[in-house]
Amino acid sequence: MTKPNNYATDPKFNRTIISVQEAQSRVMSRMKAGGVEFIPLEEAYGRHAAATVRSDVPVPHFCRSMMDGYAVRAADLASAGLEKPVRLRVTEEVACGTVASRSLRPGEAVRIMTGAQVPEGADAVIKLEETTECGSAGKRELELRQPVTEGDNLLPVGVEIEQGELMVGSGRRIGAGEMALLAMFGCATVQVHRRPRVAILSTGHELLDVSAPLEPGKIRNSNSFMLAAQVREAGGIPHLLPHVPDELERAKSVIMEAMKEFDAVVTTGGVSVGDYDVMYDLTNNWSGELLFNKVAMRPGSPTTVGLLHGKPLFALSGNPSACYVGFEMFVRPALLRMQGAHEPNPHRMTAALMEPFAKQDRFERFVRGNYATDENGNLTVRLAGIDMSNATITIRDADCLICIPPTNGVMPAGTRVDIIPLRLRR
Ligand code: AMP
Ligand code: MG
Repeated sequence: MTKPNNYATDPKFNRTIISVQEAQSRVMSRMKAGGVEFIPLEEAYGRHAAATVRSDVPVPHFCRSMMDGYAVRAADLASAGLEKPVRLRVTEEVACGTVASRSLRPGEAVRIMTGAQVPEGADAVIKLEETTECGSAGKRELELRQPVTEGDNLLPVGVEIEQGELMVGSGRRIGAGEMALLAMFGCATVQVHRRPRVAILSTGHELLDVSAPLEPGKIRNSNSFMLAAQVREAGGIPHLLPHVPDELERAKSVIMEAMKEFDAVVTTGGVSVGDYDVMYDLTNNWSGELLFNKVAMRPGSPTTVGLLHGKPLFALSGNPSACYVGFEMFVRPALLRMQGAHEPNPHRMTAALMEPFAKQDRFERFVRGNYATDENGNLTVRLAGIDMSNATITIRDADCLICIPPTNGVMPAGTRVDIIPLRLRR
């Protein structure tokens, strides 16, 4: 038999509500960058740099030709005109990766390829299309009928990057551009933050393994797999624990073990006020610290975060949407901070609501949506299908979360709202 509820005095029903921003800052103020490791450059994509990399040489480090053509001395052609051609002697050819045998002297030109090193003495390159070679066998010559400007068609030393410039800042996520820069500066191994190892635990009597046949009253555990994907997207390494029923002692022993072994633990289910919601009791009476257990947000208001020996326990709602949103709001930023990211909180943009939103709420609501650009180039957003907070299908379809502020009326179409873009999916 279950005990009768006393709503007025039971602390489970009287939690302290804090705003999403306050909850995020409570989490972030306690997260720090984790350990570092050295990895080969080819494995560095998606990781976060743990050291600042600066250019140790200028780019280009030699004067490069931007064109196929001839390297010349501008002074030689100063007097050239339609009626007054100037003849230059073509002394040699410089292909990419080779260098001229000597510097260019007055009256000389060198045939040069795109990207090749411009010889000493030359100060401009004339495009191949703008010239014709003349001269007899063994004596190559160029006839030019107009002057050139010093610096034409060449890239001087350091024009793109100066020596000592910041290339990849510590904490920065390594994408395609960072990969190219690290390679340019010879970083065959890269110092990165370790990927946090994250244990994932679903709780609930109703849960079935993915491979189990459906039974009346039961559902397959889908949240663990969704969370594993979210952990990966945030740069972490997910570890799926077998789901546990709503039994405090079982859940507790699994979670306490996982807290020892992993950098963070994410649970789903059992955070609410129901009789079987064990996460409240667990985090209210444990050796760790409770950061919060009620956030002014929907879905996911009972989202709970605790800390044990500096490691976070994120207890998210079981409702798949609430679980998803709770992860995006709190777990993703925390995992990014553990990897050294400087601004890990979700990035907001504003967009015009394309349809009215009628649900009233005293809490900020995060609704799955799709954003687009209208014919004037302004961002617009509409709901991704039905706004059922327990719908999983719209997690697949949405490309943003629409942030609906607390309202006590209908929000008309055209209202500007914040959106949080989710990663590119399709
Ligand atoms: P709870 O937060 O435990 O009250 O769960 C809220 C709702 O989410 C219930 O309908 C659960 O059946 C569902 N749910 C809980 N855990 C999971 C899970 N791991 N996968 C899918 N649905 C879940
Ligand atoms: Mg449950």
